[in-house]
Amino acid sequence: MRYKGLIEKYRDRLPVSDSTSIISLGEGNTPLIKLENIPKELGKEVDLYVKYEGLNPTGSFKDRGMTMAVTKAVEGGSEAIICASTGNTSAAAAAYAARAGIKAFVVIPEGKIALGKLAQAMIHGSIIIQIKGNFDDGMQIVKEISDHAPVTIVNSINPFRLQGQKTAAFEIIEELGSAPDYHCLPVGNAGNITAHWMGYTEYHEIGKSDSTPTMLGYQAEGAAPFIKGSRVDNPETIATAIRIGNPQSWDQALKLSKESNGWFDAFADKEILAAQKMLTEKEGVFCEPASATSVAGAMRDIKLGKIPEGSSVVCTLTGHGLKDPDSAIAQCDQSAMINVNPTLEEVKKAILDQM
Ligand SMILES: *Cc1c(COP(=O)(O)O)cnc(C)c1O
Repeated sequence: MRYKGLIEKYRDRLPVSDSTSIISLGEGNTPLIKLENIPKELGKEVDLYVKYEGLNPTGSFKDRGMTMAVTKAVEGGSEAIICASTGNTSAAAAAYAARAGIKAFVVIPEGKIALGKLAQAMIHGSIIIQIKGNFDDGMQIVKEISDHAPVTIVNSINPFRLQGQKTAAFEIIEELGSAPDYHCLPVGNAGNITAHWMGYTEYHEIGKSDSTPTMLGYQAEGAAPFIKGSRVDNPETIATAIRIGNPQSWDQALKLSKESNGWFDAFADKEILAAQKMLTEKEGVFCEPASATSVAGAMRDIKLGKIPEGSSVVCTLTGHGLKDPDSAIAQCDQSAMINVNPTLEEVKKAILDQM
């Protein structure tokens, strides 16, 4: 049967009825890729997988939540949605609003949005409100705005977002036959880690998985409220998708971390970029910097033995690498580009010099 998106597939586990008209772009059903070379390099026996959420229609996992949030907004008669965003939520909101024929307002921090995400918000015709502030400032305003204007909030505080996002855990269980031992995620607002835990516990309760995983949340050092134990006022990191100091799902994330015997940890920007580069060069998988935080964490904890050998580990790669071409190009060696004249002789020489 033709795949028609995650609401159609998981209809009986989502808050929709037979009469709900679904706004979908065919999101979900993303590949779970088993890493071959990184575990070898670590010298450890682990089954390490990445769930490549960058292959969703707008290039991030946000589509899983947005198909639900926009479907329910339209069902409820809403004609406009709004979100604060570090970029990917605005890209998803813009695309699904276009699909639904409603307006999208996106509030973004000026100058702190990766280029690909800004392009998406613009080309889909959303109305972009840039603020001279960060995500947390934007979020504060958006939370108050629905009392003053007829717009539906589609940030992850909209409960339908997490309902859609929990389906990633369903897919992993279906593919592996049971939950993995560990699940690693980059954490910003902590909506996604919360949604995954919902998905895992739900499938465990109905007998589709023997177990639930230990949930590991990884942050950037400059934006690590879960490590600090309190809000961070001026979060800063190259991983702009997790440049968040005041996580909206704070309580839920602390609770699930405890329940699953999990932990939080933080990584310097250069460790995050090194993990991103390792994935591209050793495995052929290109994710954006924030996403690579999950793999930086998994690699360190496998190396330290905090994740023991014999474990199965899934890392969520939350967004596609093409979202942020600037950071990708900036970290590559420009001198690796070979400039020659357009002759057979010079191209041949350039090749043979490298062999
Ligand atoms: C939104 C986002 C995150 C953070 O997810 P939260 O639910 O806010 O914790 C991580 N990576 C990427 C690429 C994102 O777009």
